[in-house]
Amino acid sequence: MMGSWSLVYEGFEPEQERLREALCTLGNGYFATRGASAQADADDVHYPGTYLAGGYNRLETDIAGRTIENEDLVNLPNWLPLQFRINGGEWFDIRKVYILNYRQELDMKQGLLKRIVRFRDHKGLETTLTERRLVHMANPHLAALECGLRAENWSGLLEVLSALDGRTRNEGVARYKKLNSKHLEPLLTKATDNHNIFLKVRTNQSEIQIALAARNNLFLNGKAIDIKGETLLKEGYVARRYALDLYEGSEMHLEKVVSLYTSRDPAVSECGLEAKKAITEAEPFDGLLESHALAWNHLWRRFDMSFQRKDQKDGNHTAMVLRLNIFHLLQTTSMHTMDLDVGVPSRGWHGEAYRGHVFWDELFIFPFLNLRVPEITRSLLMYRYRRLREARAAAAAEGYRGAMYPWQSGSNGREESQKLHLNPKSGRWIPDNSRLQRHVSAAIAHNVCQYYQSTGDMEFISFYGAEMVLEIARFWASMATYNKELDRYEILGVMGPDEYHEAYPDAKKPGLNNNAYTNIMAAWVMVEALNLLDILPEDRSKELRETIRLEQEEIERWQDISRKMRVAFHGDGIISQFEGYERLEEFDWEGYGKKYDDIQRLDRILEAEGDTPNRYKASKQADVLMLFYLFSAEELERIFERLGYPFERDTIPKNIQYYMQRTSHGSTLSRVVHSWVLVRSDRSRSWQLFDEALKSDYSDIQGGTTPEGIHLGAMAGSVNITQDAYTGIESRKNVLWFNPCLPEEIGRLKMEIRYRGHTLEIEVASDKFTIRDLRCAEEPVKIGFNGETFEIRGKDSRTFDLKKNTDKS
Ligand code: BGC
Repeated sequence: MMGSWSLVYEGFEPEQERLREALCTLGNGYFATRGASAQADADDVHYPGTYLAGGYNRLETDIAGRTIENEDLVNLPNWLPLQFRINGGEWFDIRKVYILNYRQELDMKQGLLKRIVRFRDHKGLETTLTERRLVHMANPHLAALECGLRAENWSGLLEVLSALDGRTRNEGVARYKKLNSKHLEPLLTKATDNHNIFLKVRTNQSEIQIALAARNNLFLNGKAIDIKGETLLKEGYVARRYALDLYEGSEMHLEKVVSLYTSRDPAVSECGLEAKKAITEAEPFDGLLESHALAWNHLWRRFDMSFQRKDQKDGNHTAMVLRLNIFHLLQTTSMHTMDLDVGVPSRGWHGEAYRGHVFWDELFIFPFLNLRVPEITRSLLMYRYRRLREARAAAAAEGYRGAMYPWQSGSNGREESQKLHLNPKSGRWIPDNSRLQRHVSAAIAHNVCQYYQSTGDMEFISFYGAEMVLEIARFWASMATYNKELDRYEILGVMGPDEYHEAYPDAKKPGLNNNAYTNIMAAWVMVEALNLLDILPEDRSKELRETIRLEQEEIERWQDISRKMRVAFHGDGIISQFEGYERLEEFDWEGYGKKYDDIQRLDRILEAEGDTPNRYKASKQADVLMLFYLFSAEELERIFERLGYPFERDTIPKNIQYYMQRTSHGSTLSRVVHSWVLVRSDRSRSWQLFDEALKSDYSDIQGGTTPEGIHLGAMAGSVNITQDAYTGIESRKNVLWFNPCLPEEIGRLKMEIRYRGHTLEIEVASDKFTIRDLRCAEEPVKIGFNGETFEIRGKDSRTFDLKKNTDKS
């Protein structure tokens, strides 16, 4: 039975194992460990991986006649290994025994991974193996594993081997196999006493020292035993081996408590010292579990939502997947993130896909955090602020002013997008132009402004946020060129979010002109930058203008560009994804649908056929439709009016209809956007897309990408559909607006959100909407509903009739 708090797998399925490892990853925002078996090495079935938040290292490789450098999220030493064998036989390998019973459960309430395997070996010996595992949510440096072995029908010698293995490489993504993968060099391995082992390694370029210590405690039938162990040392590997006689019906437990520190940690002397100290101070497994579960309990209080389906068709399934997505978001960015200099990686710290890099996916992730624990967003925005200098240098290197953030960001904020990528379908290495997605900078500005709207955090905006927005506005202004003939400004040679289009058909150079999303975002950033100059305290505004040498002339240019940015249209009110889009050929969706089982990744299919998606009206993901995702109809009306373009009432449905038919959803972000924009106009299609977006990872809908890492944008983005789209939340000019609209399938939605010091309980049913102020700051906050605003404070509660849109209270 799979309740709404547990992800359960019955039976061992080798081809499913890597997917399960990704989905059963445990982490605490500081580090994460895939849910690989403690008895497995990396092979064709298993891939153990432990990753430090922001733990990057660069390596060069000669490939396709070039030397390229990639920055990877390093697979750290494996702390899991806990092997065993019976009567001196072979070390346990699940593929070589007969499995009588196998169950794996991820208990999300407590953040605990449990496994039970009952098996018979080829000699007929039956054993039950149990495991409980946690990565501590209260003390981010700790993890623990408890392994039990019960002799069901035998008596004999049991040997157990507990190791720390620093010989790991980055081999989790088949497409990267040809690239150099050895990031770690061993520094020290030793057993510090009968129970404790220690390992220290260093990344070979970024020189991060990583120290792990493990404490092993043995128990027989629940009682601690002290058996003299033996140490095994190899380069980069240390283990402690214990042997004991086990009698039929008795059970041995080994508790392995592990600590992990690095040379980047705050408040440390030397990471090795701290790691050793931590395991001597750590409680036994049960004590650790208690404090860990309490930390999760506190997190769930802030982040959970209750979600009731009307039909109960699939029981608690939707609620479970919703929690699974929240769970992984919190394992990637937790309270501990606030102390770290890390961004939010698009694939979590769960695997090696996209190398732990930070993309524009933040745009889909922050809104959920903003109304739960906005301090996490603040910290993630600081990751961007600290890399402002690098973004300025990148703009300058291309001949622009202001700040040009990288499409893929890692350690120091330099552009980390790969120059070549492998098409696994054709086996060819092809140039990767995705760095031309300059819109990432607009997303960062948007995130800063959204954070400010949700929190009113004037300190942040004054000292950090405004500077980023101003420098990004400056970048767009310097990138925009004036077209005299049209009396419009243009942005040339970029890519929009749709990665299928990187160049005009047969063009020698990559880049497209006047991508509508980019242009509108650029104009919007300039307006926001101008607003910020007014909102900031006068002295700070002056200081900032002085510091970045912002002259009146430049401000006037922003005014002008933000009114005259070009947007191309074609047909009857269709916003052209980019200039010239209408000249592309229609794509044969039906034919390709028949020819291939899965056409999500059309780019790879077409390239393998010697063709290119550049030729077709076929998108990987939402591009124009991003505008309807980020802005309300009223906001867009204002933006278009300022630009002097018509914005008819049917602009939105017409464009949705047009582009939806031409999108393959090759990015998991795409369904999030499509579901969102259809929430009000086509509830059933929206629900279907929501359901698919929600299950992107749970069902691995791309057929093999989740094992390489979860898709955090889709995970958080789908959760945020329930939080922001179904409630119609929008925080605008110091008012928190609501405009609820539940899908047919949901009976009731209830959650607590944090808004400017208030804890607000929101309850939406199909006929009514209730808001209660549970805990509040001194100042009341303004709530908006159906065009009217009111203040809420104390224990105030208001209920509205959604059928009539009136106040019931
Ligand atoms: C998408 C991008 C996204 C990236 C990381 C790509 O497949 O096209 O929009 O930022 O994945 O999630």
